[in-house]
Amino acid sequence: SLSLRLTRVGEQIPDQARLADIGSDHAYLPVALMLQNKIQYAVAGEVVKGPFESASRQVKKNGLSDKITVRLADGLAAIQPDDQIDTVVIAGMGGTLIRTILENGKSQQKITGKERLVLQPNVGERTLREWLQENNYMILHEELIEENHKNYEIIVAEEGSKIYTPQELFFGPCLLKEKNLVFYKKWAHELQQREIVLQELEKAAIPPQDKISELNEQIDWIKEVLE
Ligand code: SAM
Repeated sequence: SLSLRLTRVGEQIPDQARLADIGSDHAYLPVALMLQNKIQYAVAGEVVKGPFESASRQVKKNGLSDKITVRLADGLAAIQPDDQIDTVVIAGMGGTLIRTILENGKSQQKITGKERLVLQPNVGERTLREWLQENNYMILHEELIEENHKNYEIIVAEEGSKIYTPQELFFGPCLLKEKNLVFYKKWAHELQQREIVLQELEKAAIPPQDKISELNEQIDWIKEVLE
């Protein structure tokens, strides 16, 4: 059975979707969704040979070779026009890598901008939200979950124009509205970390003023949302 993280990612995929799971590793997500008859078709993309082979084995073992195509490809290059993909999942990577994959895929015209994106960055959420905003996506839904003492964010986006405030890009527009228990826990911890870093920077022989003001601004934002 799927981890809580992948279960929650799966819940954001529309019924009978044609899914591209980029960086699929063992293809656990498309295989589980196909076994539940939740999706119609899937491409599992992998750029590394080992995971590509695990994905191929997993699909074969479950007798799903006619419904899930496993391709060895870099990012969205795994998608072909005939796939008629309507939903793209990129999960379990850093936000900067997810952003690069989206950017390259867009310039290679592997996505039209109409697909639903279900993204699960491990870090670097802000840079990913900035990319979405700059590329005509709006954020429909976000989740912040905790599993095995780690936090995971899920960002669901679709075509649409929306300008977010700097705080919304930093915390996540939906997460900021919801402010669940994990959110409070995460940002209380992040506040502590930033205060430690700030103290160190202020002690430096030549204090880096830009970094210090940036941290001070973020500390103010965090204090405000934790109130
Ligand atoms: N998506 C799965 C999940 O969320 O559990 C697997 C996450 S795993 C940590 C990240 C996978 O992404 C690795 O198997 C890696 O080989 C793959 N990957 C990294 N960069 C990639 C790229 N540019 N294109 C396709 N796959 C990539």
